[in-house]
Amino acid sequence: MKKKKHWYDYLWIWAILYFALGFFSILFAWFGMIDFLLPLGIAIFGGNKFFCNHLCGRGQLFSKLGGDLKCSRNKPTPRWMSSKWFRYGFLIFFLTMFGNMVFQTYLVGAGASSLREIIKLFWTFRVPWGWTYTAGTVADWVAQFSFGLYSLMLTSLLLGLIVMVLYKPRTWCTFCPMGTMTQGICKLKNNEKK
Ligand code: SF4
Repeated sequence: MKKKKHWYDYLWIWAILYFALGFFSILFAWFGMIDFLLPLGIAIFGGNKFFCNHLCGRGQLFSKLGGDLKCSRNKPTPRWMSSKWFRYGFLIFFLTMFGNMVFQTYLVGAGASSLREIIKLFWTFRVPWGWTYTAGTVADWVAQFSFGLYSLMLTSLLLGLIVMVLYKPRTWCTFCPMGTMTQGICKLKNNEKK
């Protein structure tokens, strides 16, 4: 029997739409905060991984592309990628980069640095992205945060796509920082209950 579809089974469309909107206006990047706050909220207050299991458009997109459309070699994920040291190491790196992005936003807000209308891919390559923003539309720090968050989201999407092609469709999920954080929170919560 075919599994009944829910509205949230189509969130992979949202994952595509999010990146598409960033080509028109960088300010849409702020919607990416939902992907940070919602999984944490569900893990903290619900003690479960409902977000990963049902609400993550990115995970669904990898399943669609890698599974349904066969864009994955479907090779086993290397064991080191799911090891604790790599998952937590990547989480620390990711959070440091997130913190740096917030700090850059602060510097722009404080007037110590000027707005950079660029996207930084893989934390290294600067890609001009100025056409997505008209100076003065919002406060500079609001725009700076948009460029920073979009860079982070796009970089992690590309990393996920690379490992999707090389290994299993959802290899990214084995070391995704949000997955590592929510898993850690759920473990702590469930230990509390015991
Ligand atoms: S591990 Fe990350 S990408 Fe995978 S479903 Fe969870 S939040 Fe989404």
